[in-house]
Amino acid sequence: MARVPYVDKDSCISCGLCVSTCPGVFRFGEDGKSEVYDPAGGREADIQVAIDGCPVQCISWKE
Ligand code: SF4
Repeated sequence: MARVPYVDKDSCISCGLCVSTCPGVFRFGEDGKSEVYDPAGGREADIQVAIDGCPVQCISWKE
């Protein structure tokens, strides 16, 4: 099975970078924090850009 991205909501500062980089994968939840709503909604390379760009490094891969 493919790995999927995971957001540690406790650390997310709602900067919006992942949501703008991969709008098909990440969105803001009702709590204003990013969440993964469709792990297959974007290319893995784009998800990696979001992971690398997150200022608080709270996105990671789960195998
Ligand atoms: S890039 Fe990181 S801090 Fe910014 S919204 Fe996404 S998960 Fe939150």
